[in-house]
Amino acid sequence: MQRSWDDTFALAWASYIGGTTPVGAMLLDRDGTRVATGANRRYSSEPVAGQLSGSRLAHAELNALAGVDPLTDVRDHTLYSTLEPCSLCVGASIQAGVGTVVYAAPDPYGGAASMRLDNRQVQLRRPDLLAEADLRWRDLGALLVLVFSIEVRRADGIVDAYRDRLPDLVTRAEDDRIRATVRDAAAANAPWNEVRKALTA
Ligand SMILES: [Zn+2]
Repeated sequence: MQRSWDDTFALAWASYIGGTTPVGAMLLDRDGTRVATGANRRYSSEPVAGQLSGSRLAHAELNALAGVDPLTDVRDHTLYSTLEPCSLCVGASIQAGVGTVVYAAPDPYGGAASMRLDNRQVQLRRPDLLAEADLRWRDLGALLVLVFSIEVRRADGIVDAYRDRLPDLVTRAEDDRIRATVRDAAAANAPWNEVRKALTA
């Protein structure tokens, strides 16, 4: 589990280094084998086969699920995301038929885990949407998004939404030392495990 989250966060970190909202997603089968991965590529100009890039729709979960063979039954698969899925990605999870979605950090701005639809399709295959119980991953997922929203692409709406719900994390993200740690690591193309250690020290 720890390893899966680290690998999923490495995707989010690659997005951060690439100047895009840091979110990563990974689909595992029932045995824990990796089936597909995706990263947010909203601001990326680099094309990746089978994934969206340079688009407002280029979300991590959508990109992971886009890689699933449509003939594969993924009801017993789990999609891990570093951030609570938005309405688009909850919709994509329903369309893909994935059984479970687990997210590290809540997204008080655009998170849609509580989104409810009532049609036959949703009744038959709405995934279980679960928050990761280990709050260290919650903090890391939120910190990445917050530092990005403060430091790289100013997004006051996102920061204000977190301030209402998780004010301590906003305080950490606004700390000059935390921001310098992330900024320097991104500039140095540091591997994710070094960033995790620095942020959890
Ligand atoms: Zn999304």
